[in-house]
Amino acid sequence: MEKVLVSACLLGARVRYNGSDKAITDDVLDRWVAEGRLVSLCPEVAAGLPTPRPPAEIRGAGGGAVLRGQAQVVDALGDDVSQAFVRGAEQALALVREHRIRVAVLTERSPSCGSSLIYDGGFGGVTRPGEGTTTALLREHGVEVFNEGQLGEAAACLSRFDDEAGSHRTANPLF
Ligand code: SF4
Repeated sequence: MEKVLVSACLLGARVRYNGSDKAITDDVLDRWVAEGRLVSLCPEVAAGLPTPRPPAEIRGAGGGAVLRGQAQVVDALGDDVSQAFVRGAEQALALVREHRIRVAVLTERSPSCGSSLIYDGGFGGVTRPGEGTTTALLREHGVEVFNEGQLGEAAACLSRFDDEAGSHRTANPLF
C-alpha cells in the first residue's frame, strides 16, 4: 500500500516557528490514518532547529536554488539558515526513500514545505509563486507534492499509484 508524507504541523504537531500547529480535519486524512498510510515529518525540526524559532523566508529564486547554493533562506534576525533547511530537505528525502513514498501533502507558504506559494523574503507577509526547499528536493526525486487544500487531488494520485501497483502484482506474482 502506498504511503503518504504529510507535514507534521498539519497533523497537529506544534512545530511551527511560533510554536503553533496548522492542524486540519478532513475525511481524506481520517481515511489515511485508518489505513495506516501516514508518515509525518517536520523538516525544520528534523534539521535540529528549535521551536519556537525566528520565522524564515527564501531570498532569491526558490527552494531549488537554495539546494544549489544559488539562493538563501534567511531568518527574521538576518541569519543565513540555508544549511539547516537543506538538511531538513535531505531528512525528508531519506524518509521518502525508506517508505518508497510517491505522494506528499505539505504546508503551503512554508520556506520548507510550500509547493506553489512562498513568502517573498521581505518579512512583510507578501507571497509569491514558488516552492520550499523540501518540496523542491522531493519533486526533483519524482515525488508528487500537494498542499493542504489539495487533499482530493492527492488522494486521486495515491489511488492511481495503488491501482498501478495492483495491476503490476497481478501481472507478476513475484512482485
Ligand atoms: Fe510545518 Fe513544514 Fe514548517 Fe515543519 S517545516 S512547521 S512541517 S510547514
